This record gives sequence, structure tokens and C-alpha cells, in this order.
Amino acid sequence: MSAAAPTPHTTTWIKDPLAILAAEGLDATGGVVVEGDRIVEVLAAGEEPTIPYETTFDAREHVVVPGLINTHHHFYQTLTRAWAPVASAELFPWLVNLYPVWAGLTPRDLELATTAALAELLLSGCTTAADHHYLFPGGLEDAIDIQVDAARRLGMRAVLTRGSMTLGTDDGGLPPQDVVQDLDTILSDSRRLVESYHERGPGAQIQIALAPCSPFSVTREAMRDSAALAEELDVRLHTHLAETVDEERFCLERFGMRTVDYLESVGWLGPRAWLAHGIHFDDGEVARLGAAGVGVAHCPTSNMRLASGTCRAVELEDAGAAVGLGVDGSASNDGSNLVLEARQALYLQRLRYGAEVPPERALRWATAGSARVLGREDLGEIAVGKQADLALFRLDELRFSGSHDPLAALLLCGADRADRVMVAGRWRVVDGAIEGLDVPALIAEHSRAARGLLTRAGV
Ligand SMILES: [Zn+2]
Repeated sequence: MSAAAPTPHTTTWIKDPLAILAAEGLDATGGVVVEGDRIVEVLAAGEEPTIPYETTFDAREHVVVPGLINTHHHFYQTLTRAWAPVASAELFPWLVNLYPVWAGLTPRDLELATTAALAELLLSGCTTAADHHYLFPGGLEDAIDIQVDAARRLGMRAVLTRGSMTLGTDDGGLPPQDVVQDLDTILSDSRRLVESYHERGPGAQIQIALAPCSPFSVTREAMRDSAALAEELDVRLHTHLAETVDEERFCLERFGMRTVDYLESVGWLGPRAWLAHGIHFDDGEVARLGAAGVGVAHCPTSNMRLASGTCRAVELEDAGAAVGLGVDGSASNDGSNLVLEARQALYLQRLRYGAEVPPERALRWATAGSARVLGREDLGEIAVGKQADLALFRLDELRFSGSHDPLAALLLCGADRADRVMVAGRWRVVDGAIEGLDVPALIAEHSRAARGLLTRAGV
């Protein structure tokens, strides 16, 4: 087989995989044929492609899954991983200690952090990543533009959300006043970003969404006006919701209502919106979110790390909500490994619902579920017509030795690194290495930037 990256219009048969997670009901044991950026044939065992193909990739030693999709992250936080003062704190004190450090973020810091987070995700089998960036200190007005460039350089798909904070401590919010922005600035920059970068339709590489940060860091007006603008521009909406009991208390005190009532009151209760965490919902709220088709980014590691609680992911999905996964972070995970996050989701959900939650369900949250959360019908499944975004794992490490079901082994034995990753028909990871990225140099520079950030903050 040729190890060379296929050019956009090459046709490749990814042949006879060791195992493959195809769309439900499809037999893909003979592999898939990729033409350009799409999957054009799915083959049962013993079948051969019906169209001419130029190259064959022998996948006999690979488990093939759809490219994993991450629905919630803060790339910049890779610069403040495992910082001792907040290593054992819950959300509010964790944030209050970190805000002043993050206020010193520079454009170069963000470029390095974005590249580091995306690279880490890519090596774990992730092909599409959403980021929630809500810090725009002086000099960092082009934060999202910087992230667009970084994602394009790596050849990954990214849903970059223009985050915002408008409610500082002077007005009863949590973040310090010097990291909040005025609403007009936020809305005009949001419009600029959508008009400059947002791609529509199948195969889109870069998308923009609007993302007021959380109930305790934005005003009611910012929530309402962001929803109206998202409707006008036809882009998605993202925020943190129902992450902690502290947040619920804040909503009751400030708005006189619980989180889902607040969400509805500002025009967010619909399929355009997806929520990070979504933990503290009662039965009625689960039903309302499901009926409205709201998306939930389940972030199990972060929720355990900050002792926030357990998302009712199974019930939300069964009620009709879209459920996907997010590594969150990176200062509350503190990694960006999406295949390991699927393992965490499986086990955390088993603690709530019992051992009958199957590994396949967690893999579907990380793929088809996450695609639905982001409104992407072209991603997240192995089926004809879908984008050729694939993650291939080998099972020849010691941790897999003696395993039997290859798909279950990915999660149960703790796969943590893809051998090959394809995005839009192009190999972006080959033999466990990212094409065109000097990872040791990135680590050296990113680590230096992380130390510099703390030094500038005087901590
Ligand atoms: Zn978050």
C-alpha cells in the first residue's frame, strides 16, 4: 500500500479493517472507498469496489471509527494545566484564581495553545473540534482569526465560537471587570467573524458560532441579542449551563429562576443551541431540553475534576436531546484526549445507569452524537456520502494484548493514540505522527509561553 497522502481526487480503498464502526445497520467489514473528501462506497465482507480506485490501504491491523468530534474546549487553557493553586478547587474559586492569569494572554500564546490543543486532539483520533474562546484582552482582538489560521495549518475542521463576557464583578458577575467587553463590540465582531470565515454546507472546514460564556459572566441582554444574531446569520449558539449548584443558586438569586427557565426566557431553547456540561437538570427540565432538541456537550473528566456532578446523558439523549462529548479544559481535565474521554464517559455513565451502557454508545456520543450537537449531517458516521473523516487505531500495544472484541477494546483497554487519522480524505496523522508538525519544538515553545504567562501575572 502507498503511505502517501491521497491528493483530493484520489480514490482509495481502505480495505478489510480488523473492525469498523459503521453507521447503524451497515455492514462495512470489507472497508470503505474514499474519493476526494467523501466516502463513496461501503463494502460488506468479500465485496470489491464497483468503481475504479488508485490506491489500497490494507487496514487488516486497524480498528476504523469515524473521526472523533469534540464539542467543548478552551484551547488557551493548555497554558494553565495542573496549576497548583487550583489543582483541588471547585469551579467558582478555580475561575476566580485563573481569570487574572488568563488576562495576560498574548496573540502568540493563543496561537501556540490552539496548535497544542488541536494537535493533541488530532493524535487521539479527533478530526473536528469546537472551541469556546471568551477572552479578548487588549491586543488579542483577533483571537478567533488566530485560531482559524492554526486549524487550517493542521488541516482539521474547527467550530470556533466567538465567546463573550459582559457581566463583571462591578455588576455582580464573577469575572474581573478588565476581562469583560461591551455588547456592541461583541456583536459587531461576531458578525465580522461569521461573514469572514463561516463555511456552510457539506465539507465545511471552518465554522463560527456565538457563545456567551455562562449565566454568571454575561448579562441577560447579551444572551438575548446573541440568540437574535445567531438566528439572523443562521449560525449556532453555545454556552455553559447547569454545570454547578453554585451556578443554579446564582440564577435563582439574580434572575429569579432556574437555569432552563432562564435559557428559555432569553430565546435559547431550541436545536440551534448546545450547552456545555448540562448537569443539574430535574426530570421536567430533561424532558423540555429533549423535546426542544437542544444539544449537550458531556464533559465527564472536567465534571469529575471539579467535582461538579454527573450529566444525565442517557436520559437526555433518550428524551431527544443531542448528546456529544467534550474534553473541556484544558485547565480542568487537564488533557485533550478524546478517545480517553469516551472511556471516561462510558464509566461515569455506568456509575449512574449501570453496566449495561455499552462501549458502542460512548463511541457514538464521540462521533454521530457530537456531529448532531454541532449540526453536522455530513460528519460523524461511516456511510456513503459522509465526509471521509476517519480514525484508525492499532491494537498491537501491550495494553491490548489478550483482548477479543476490537471495538470494545478501544475503550476498555484504554486506547489513547490513533495510528492514522484522515480528515476530508487526506491523511493528517501517519504512523502516529502529525504530517508537517514539529511536536518537540511546539512543546518547547508552548511550555515557555506557559511559564511566561504565570510570570507576567506575578504568581
Ligand atoms: Zn468550558
